[in-house]
Amino acid sequence: MSQTTTNLPVVVIGAGPAGLAAAAHLEDRSLDFLVLEAGPHAGAAPRDWAHVRLFSRWDEVVDPAAEKLLAPTGWVKPDAASYPTGGDWAELYLQPLADILGDRVRFGARVTGVSRTGRDRIVDADRDAQPFVIHVEHADGLEERVFARAVIDASGTWSTPSPAGAGGLHALGEKAAADRIAYRVPDLKDPAVRARYAGKRTAIIGSGASAFTALAHLADLARTDDGTGTHATWILRRGISGSTFGGGEADQLPARGALGLAAKAAVDGGYADAVTGFRTDAIERDADGRLVLIGEDGRRLDPVDEVIVLTGFRPDLSFLDELRLGLDERLQAPLALAPLIDPNQHSCGTVYPHGQAELSHPEKDVYLVGMKSYGRAPTFLAMTGYEQVRSIAAHLAGDQEAAERVELTLPETGVCGGAGLFDQPETTEQSGGGCCAAPATLTIGAPATSGGC
Ligand SMILES: Cc1cc2nc3c(=O)[nH]c(=O)nc-3n(C[C@H](O)[C@H](O)[C@H](O)COP(=O)(O)OP(=O)(O)OC[C@H]3O[C@@H](n4cnc5c(N)ncnc54)[C@H](O)[C@@H]3O)c2cc1C
Repeated sequence: MSQTTTNLPVVVIGAGPAGLAAAAHLEDRSLDFLVLEAGPHAGAAPRDWAHVRLFSRWDEVVDPAAEKLLAPTGWVKPDAASYPTGGDWAELYLQPLADILGDRVRFGARVTGVSRTGRDRIVDADRDAQPFVIHVEHADGLEERVFARAVIDASGTWSTPSPAGAGGLHALGEKAAADRIAYRVPDLKDPAVRARYAGKRTAIIGSGASAFTALAHLADLARTDDGTGTHATWILRRGISGSTFGGGEADQLPARGALGLAAKAAVDGGYADAVTGFRTDAIERDADGRLVLIGEDGRRLDPVDEVIVLTGFRPDLSFLDELRLGLDERLQAPLALAPLIDPNQHSCGTVYPHGQAELSHPEKDVYLVGMKSYGRAPTFLAMTGYEQVRSIAAHLAGDQEAAERVELTLPETGVCGGAGLFDQPETTEQSGGGCCAAPATLTIGAPATSGGC
């Protein structure tokens, strides 16, 4: 570290689970830090999906260093074995944590650019010795420049969902049909949202945990008096196989396995039809204003009233453009991390814990952590992010031994062939390959095949 950067803080972008855990670990290491959060509260993303219950238990989503900070404040730790909703996670854990950190967490502070002071990405001269300069836009419109010795980008991927188009771009007509398309699991407890989907036909595009949740919620709606006639068309890019519904009872996170089983029950119960091998190319309105999905192979599906696109997320790298990042060309994840999480290679959904070494870039002292570190890979778990930031804080404090140590064992999904975990980008077009034997074919209506890797 140079003389010019020694006294500067570490800037953390985002006050979500990973960003606040980073702050807690930096605090634990007595390192100066500043968290810049675009939203008005901690946990802006989980607050957006406040109605969705996590498949992780409370004890799997509380960071150890954060708990160490919270414990002496009279914080009441939620029941370790129960499952929070996104709203619980934000209000019962993330907000109290941010409150303890005080004015070192600034809300309404959106980062719009990060660079080396006086050095654009081309300039080599004395580059590592220059402090980072962070461009911030405040909610009141004021602009600010903040200087930092290191940057931990924990800004997530929630605000950049993938579109419906199979090529990764918007389908023809997708933007024009925006009034009928949602990119998140609807909150059917909200009367206005409930009315939007009750008794309607809805296409759900995607094959990860969010798609499972949406299928299960719409089936629940169909089973109620006000939801009679609610029906889902489930659009999958690949075929249905033993891994389509996740690991079921073989999943080491039982609630995650149960999501797939609930989706399967929705299909088996006749509340949803699956359309397989369908790559969305265009979305048209018919004469009645309903939406018709058209596949790349020319197939036209029966009209639906609504479309829910749950095809995964992608990182917003625009504000990091002046930095020298080493990112994998497929996943947009750090180069050393990508092979560990690539769903093309890791069909068991098993992800190895990793830290500072795998997360470093050609640009020294910059880290992408949390959900954003996975780029487009679907398997991120909060506890992975906590381990990442523990290792990075140790490295920044000069404790290389702790930075290199692995202090985490991750649960396996029980999925063999097809990552089948989160909001799937469906990169694993064929369901065989990877670290397990090829999966058995699953017939809709037959019991789920389970079994670990
Ligand atoms: C529906 C859903 C369910 C999930 N369930 C689980 C689960 O059960 N178990 C599990 O382990 N994981 C789960 N995850 C995955 C993951 O743990 C969460 O997505 C988690 O919120 C990721 O934390 P994060 O801190 O990396 O990102 P986020 O929570 O997205 O936080 C990023 C923060 O950065 C802020 N931000 C963004 N851009 C900027 C900017 N330019 N400047 C300043 N601030 C910015 C955002 O406002 C946000 O507050 C789930 C994810 C989703 C979407």
